[in-house]
Parts: sequence; structure tokens; C-alpha cells
Amino acid sequence: MAAAPSNDATPGTLHAGGKTAVVCGAGAIGAATAYFLSKKGIDVTVVEKSGVACASSGKAGGFLALDWCDSSPVGPLARASFKLHEQLAQELGQDYGYRRVDTLSLTVQESAAIKRATKGAPGLPAWVDGPVKGAAAIGGKPTTGQVHPKLFTQALVDAARTRYGAKLRIGAVEAIELSEAPSGGRKVSHVLVDGELVETDAAVIAMGPWSGRMSVISELSPITGLKAHSIVLKPPHPEKISATCLFLNYRTRSGQSLEPEVYPRPTGEVYVCGVSEEGLSIPDDPEQVLPRKGAPDILKTVAATVSSELADAEVTAEQACFLPMSEDGVPLIGQVPGVEGLYVATGHSCWGILNAPATGAALAELMVDGKSSLVDLRPFDPRRFAVRSKAFSSFYAHAMKHRAHLFLLGKYEVLLPGLEPQFDIILTV
Ligand SMILES: Cc1cc2nc3c(=O)[nH]c(=O)nc-3n(C[C@H](O)[C@H](O)[C@H](O)COP(=O)(O)OP(=O)(O)OC[C@H]3O[C@@H](n4cnc5c(N)ncnc54)[C@H](O)[C@@H]3O)c2cc1C
Repeated sequence: MAAAPSNDATPGTLHAGGKTAVVCGAGAIGAATAYFLSKKGIDVTVVEKSGVACASSGKAGGFLALDWCDSSPVGPLARASFKLHEQLAQELGQDYGYRRVDTLSLTVQESAAIKRATKGAPGLPAWVDGPVKGAAAIGGKPTTGQVHPKLFTQALVDAARTRYGAKLRIGAVEAIELSEAPSGGRKVSHVLVDGELVETDAAVIAMGPWSGRMSVISELSPITGLKAHSIVLKPPHPEKISATCLFLNYRTRSGQSLEPEVYPRPTGEVYVCGVSEEGLSIPDDPEQVLPRKGAPDILKTVAATVSSELADAEVTAEQACFLPMSEDGVPLIGQVPGVEGLYVATGHSCWGILNAPATGAALAELMVDGKSSLVDLRPFDPRRFAVRSKAFSSFYAHAMKHRAHLFLLGKYEVLLPGLEPQFDIILTV
């Protein structure tokens, strides 16, 4: 029987005396992991292919919510992370735009000639003067907040380097080299960076949607990417824009439904995102992730429709990036099955900025102390896919052997005994 998912790392990694770790990828997840690992006294090298926060973590909205993930296994991680964001804003000692915000859901209908609402329409900030059909408060300062995601990620890397001696190396991780562990299994021994072997006791794969380029991950479960677009605006009168984030149910003049989001930032900028595309291949080079022609224009029209203050704004960025998606929608945080010292932290989809602090802190605890006290990591254990693949492979092999019999009986629903409900397998023949 394959091992059940567990919150414990295999003995023999950092909590057994190892002192060095290579963190692959300097997005928010890698940066937070590097910060908390180095704070625990580990000698950390962050290896980043292009630049700190060059991908999703620099192009995200940076919206934070205490309880919006409560209906999923991510709920406790998000709650712990929301709290940690507040602590980090003090601890890191840099202004990266952390603040609490009010949050509204708006229904907006685009029209040929925009009828501007009287300033100060009930329930709406004065700068939201577009054709709003319905509005509801969906978050207030106790439960919603924001950071500037690029500045936040950079602040984590800066603090890891200047306070705790972490090193940042710009280079591409090409492979993870394994050797035989004293236990007889496999353990991480080196990370291959631009053709050079870097010796290490532990490694963390935190390369966002590129994590699946490492065979140890792709053999376990595919990591895919969902492309999303965003623009950044510099309005002429930023002082008129309040700290209110907007989630829109937006209908274009041609009847297309969109769900864009509008986030004013303390820097005076306004960030607008939306327009996603599934099933695209991810370029090797993060710098080559470019917006689709026309997508930024859709977002500019959204902004101009919602607010006359945004209609004349200067556009300072038109960008796209890939959200890292796991197979079951739940991030992978923990040890790679069967490889001592090798960990993965990815698949945070649309909540990677919110969940970076608790992911990094809990993973550092798991790696160094052998267990996370901050949050129960069992729902995120990558071993859930190993259990699934082993159980399924043996059942599938059995089913194939008795193919004729199965076809005769038609439809089967088979639950494997002894596995937790999330690992039940339903086989239809
Ligand atoms: C439009 C949009 C809006 C979003 N808004 C929010 C939001 O408001 N709140 C929120 O919580 N989340 C938001 N997200 C989600 C969030 O951006 C992601 O979940 C998060 O940034 C993922 O971080 P990451 O570190 O896993 O990956 P990434 O940010 O993709 O970082 C991976 C890093 O790995 C590097 N890398 C890749 N290959 C290699 C290699 N071979 N060697 C070394 N390095 C490598 C890349 O260069 C990159 O820097 C948003 C995402 C999008 C697309």
C-alpha cells in the first residue's frame, strides 16, 4: 500500500542537520520560502532565470482576502497568510503598498454613450461614475487588503539577502541531480544551473507554471498555466481614487461577459486585470510572455467605462502572465515523494500572492523542524498524486488483464478500500 499523505518530512533532510538549500524561482512563493528558510539559519541560494518577480508575481493584482478560500482546502492556509501579511508589513520594514481596502462587486453594462452617474451615488465611491447596474460590498478593511506584488516579492528577497545572508543567482535551473540516500532511496545532491552543478542538502522547486519542466514534478502530476492579461494606469488625479477594489460582472456592447478586476494602489496607479486564455503553451523564457493583440484594449475600455477618472489615464504597462495551475486546483506544498531533501511549492493559481507568506513559513518549518506548526500541510502534500497514480496503475493493470469480463458487465464504479475519500477512484468501463 502506498504511503498516505503526511505532514511530516522524511528524516534525513534539513532537520537532520543539513544546512544548505537552493530555492528555484524568485516569484512570490520562492521569495517567501527563501525568506523563512534563511531566517531559520539555512544557507539559501535563490536561483532565478530572469529577474525577481518577472512573471505572475510581478504582474498580479496583489489582492488579499481573509476568508474567500474558506470553502476549499486552501482556507486555513489563506487565513494564516492574511495574518502573516500584516506581520510582514511591519517586519520587512519596507513600504511595498500593504494596506487594507474596501471591496465591491459591481454589475456594469457597457454602452455607446456612457451615462455618468451623479458623483457620490449611494454605495459607490465618487470616482466610480460609470453605468453601474448593481453594487454590493463583498469585503471591508477587516477582511480584504492588498500589496504591490512586485515590491512585496522584492522586499522578501532583499530581506533574505541583507538580514539573513541568502544569495541571489540569476541563471536557469536545468535539472535536479539525485543520488542514493543512506536509507537506500534517492536524495537531492545538486542543482544544475547554467551547466554548473551546485551542491545542496535540499532544493525547493518554486518555478510557478515552469515547475512542471522538472521531470520529478511532471512524472507526478502536470502543472499547467492559465494566461491572463493586465494593464497599469496612471490617472491624472490619483488623490480622487479611494482604496476600493472592484470585482466586476461586466457586459460589453457586443454582449460578451467579462469578470475584470480594478485595484487602485497606494502608489497612485490603478491596476486592471481580466481576459484569460486556457490551453496555451508557456514560452520557455518568462520575458517572452506577451499580451495577446487587443486584450489590453479591452481592459482600457473597461477602465474608461467604470470611471471618467481612468478614461484619460496614462497606460504605463500592458502585460500578460501564466497562473500556475495544479491538476486538482490545490497547491502542491511539501516533499517530492521518494526524494529526500527535494520539495515543491507551486500551483497557487489566482491566490499566490495572498498565500505566499504561509506557504513559505510552513514549508520552512517542514524542511527544518520536520513538521509545520503554522498550518496543516496535509491537503497540499504532493504525495496525494503518488498515492493516486500508484493505486490507479495497479488497479488499471488488473482491469486490463480482465478486460473481456469488464466489458461484459458494462459500467463499474470501484472504490479502493483503505484510502481516504479524496483518493477514491471511479472507473467507468
Ligand atoms: C492577472 C493576474 C492577477 C492576479 N492577481 C492576484 C491577486 O490579486 N492576489 C493573489 O493572491 N494572486 C494573484 N494572482 C496569482 C499570483 O500571481 C500567482 O499565484 C503567483 O504569482 C505565483 O507565484 P509563483 O512564485 O508560484 O510563480 P511565478 O511568479 O510565475 O514565479 C516563478 C519564477 O520562476 C522562474 N523560473 C522559471 N523557470 C526557471 C528556471 N528554469 N530556473 C530558474 N527560475 C525559473 C520565473 O522566471 C519566475 O520568476 C494573479 C495572477 C494573474 C495572472
